[in-house]
Amino acid sequence: MHLGSVAVLGSANMDLVTQQPRLPLPGETIAGSTFTTGPGGKGLNQAVAARRAGVEVTFIGAVGSDGFGSELRSFLDHEGVGTDTLRTIEGPTGIAIVSVVDGGENSIVIVAGANGADDISAADEAGIRSSSLLVAQLERPLTLIEKAFALAKDGGATTVLTPAPVDADAVRLLPFTDILVPNETEAIELSGEGDAQSAARALSRQVGIVVTTLGAKGAIVATGGEIVATVAAHPADAVDTTGAGDTFVGAMVAALARGDELSAALAAASAAGAIAVTRFGAAPAAPTREEIDAFLA
Ligand code: ADP
Repeated sequence: MHLGSVAVLGSANMDLVTQQPRLPLPGETIAGSTFTTGPGGKGLNQAVAARRAGVEVTFIGAVGSDGFGSELRSFLDHEGVGTDTLRTIEGPTGIAIVSVVDGGENSIVIVAGANGADDISAADEAGIRSSSLLVAQLERPLTLIEKAFALAKDGGATTVLTPAPVDADAVRLLPFTDILVPNETEAIELSGEGDAQSAARALSRQVGIVVTTLGAKGAIVATGGEIVATVAAHPADAVDTTGAGDTFVGAMVAALARGDELSAALAAASAAGAIAVTRFGAAPAAPTREEIDAFLA
């Protein structure tokens, strides 16, 4: 494995966030209290988290030819994430309409737009081959991720998969996956087991390492059908847990790309997750390497 850089294959969305007292009934119009827009998508979130955690990052993605696409590109450039492999495709950028109900759950509609592109360009292939780790989530077509993971394995890179949004067909990717990082729900759905521990054990018979994140309870590491380690979470005054898992993965892969052992990388990831939940937003909440190091000192 070539040390040093990370390729993130994933989605870039413009998040359109409204806040209102309740969801409208079918056919009803209601007034919301706030509207904000911001960069999102699991791929973009992980790319920014890894970059802030201190490594070179190439983002393999696609935006549309609309204004949202240029905004997302500028955001990634500003963050220092490599955009040579960010394509602009004629048509709309991916969006997420996030409806936040006062004091309640969020409801989200995602339209994939440009994220649905499923071919790998020569530039994408070069980006994958020159990186030590390739990281993906499931907001791009499975066939695309499959092709990219096969290329990464062929070139000796480590593949990392966040199986979210969870999709049973993602088991197809497990033979090409070195490190699987599901949250509790995803682990249970992907394995068909009844609890996080059994799920972790079952999935670790199909991939090298499974890191199952458990929110404020930290994470467990399984390999070869056994749980081999636990990762403590740090107490945090959480205000917004959106994207905690993406920040965790970004910090983990940044540390691995620098040559850290998995245990040290997971300590950094847990610190990054704890910092992120004390701030609002997903990508904007990701901490820098200095903040992670200071937290762990
Ligand atoms: P996801 O966002 O994918 O559902 P989790 O909620 O499991 O992922 O969170 C990922 C990681 O972020 C956890 O393993 C933990 O290290 C950290 N984390 C999440 N929520 C909290 C919290 N409330 N307090 C401290 N750390 C947290």
